[in-house]
Amino acid sequence: MVVMPSIVDLSVNLAMAYPTSTNDDLMLARERLLLAPYAMHSADTAGRKHPEPPHPYRGPFHRDRDRIVHSAAYRRLSSKMQVFTGELGDYHRTRLTHTHEVASVARTLARALKLNEDLVEALALAHDLGHPPFGHAGEDALNECLAGEGGFSHNRHGLRLIEELEQRYPEFPGLNLSLEVLEGQATRIDKQAVALQRPLLEVQVVEAADSVAYDTHDADDALELGLVSLPELLLVPLWSEAAKRVRLRYAALAGKVLKRAVLHELIDWQVSDLVTRVGARLAAGDLASTFDVRRAAYLVETSQELIELKRELEAFLRDRVYRHPDVLRVRLDAQAMLREMFAGYVARPELLPASFSGRIERVGLRRSVSDYLAGMTDRYAQQEYRRLFTPRC
Ligand code: MG
Repeated sequence: MVVMPSIVDLSVNLAMAYPTSTNDDLMLARERLLLAPYAMHSADTAGRKHPEPPHPYRGPFHRDRDRIVHSAAYRRLSSKMQVFTGELGDYHRTRLTHTHEVASVARTLARALKLNEDLVEALALAHDLGHPPFGHAGEDALNECLAGEGGFSHNRHGLRLIEELEQRYPEFPGLNLSLEVLEGQATRIDKQAVALQRPLLEVQVVEAADSVAYDTHDADDALELGLVSLPELLLVPLWSEAAKRVRLRYAALAGKVLKRAVLHELIDWQVSDLVTRVGARLAAGDLASTFDVRRAAYLVETSQELIELKRELEAFLRDRVYRHPDVLRVRLDAQAMLREMFAGYVARPELLPASFSGRIERVGLRRSVSDYLAGMTDRYAQQEYRRLFTPRC
């Protein structure tokens, strides 16, 4: 029987092998042992826009992850909706719990494929930071408000947040994250750039994990809220196939227990499909570095069977959930509120906090108002709307 060394054994062995090494050397040696050559190794980072000395015991991407977790934008995700607002109940996902689920799936993929888990986690935790209040409804309203002026996109705003709007350090604006994290966020904006040069595998893994998470959990949330029923979902081919697999093991499951088992199966199926498919491609051994990854075909994709099954589920969710009258009503109310707030702050910029009015000269009044509104949580936007823009009798 082959006994694999544990990570503790590896660390002890490394420390013994390099008795005079610094923590930094050990971290890099550990990556050389555990990561594949096509992974993004910390030693090869392009660094930060504002150069900083290395941290004594945290690698660059570990540090990025910590900076994101300690940012205000990250904390605010807890009060930003994913698909359903907080008024509807407390079971469904918020933007923060969705972010954790993406990070969880992405870490599993990264570890199985021997990619850089710290970088994957930083990318996953940052991927939705730029969402304004009320999710895509809020995004569309702000985009309309800024029509002809560059518009608004949550991905672009995410980059603005981490590059300049977060003000936490005296030495530089933004979070000064590693260039690989900024590049990962930028590929979410510019699809043409992806066609010219593929993103790092760590970036591709987070994209795939996002899709696994929202396809699975939006259906779960919609079920719990009663927008769709389990028998209806079990007619969708992806769900019926997952239920068939579950029943091979537990023939008698029904109701909520069956639902939970199907959800587990769906995640496991999608993740296993990715690990098997991408793992086999990587095992061919022709990707010896990130240089090769950038020039190879886009790699982290599910099988054609799953792509088609997921497409059918997404069409079902679009028709039955995202366009459900209750969801559309929330969307229309939120958009009307944000449009009114946008016009209100533009008409009376003295209502803006100093940190945003101080930026008007540099970025313009309308962009500054949009930056302020985009940072609000759903709850804070409603509170400020009532406080400043609702006439009192
Ligand atoms: Mg997401």
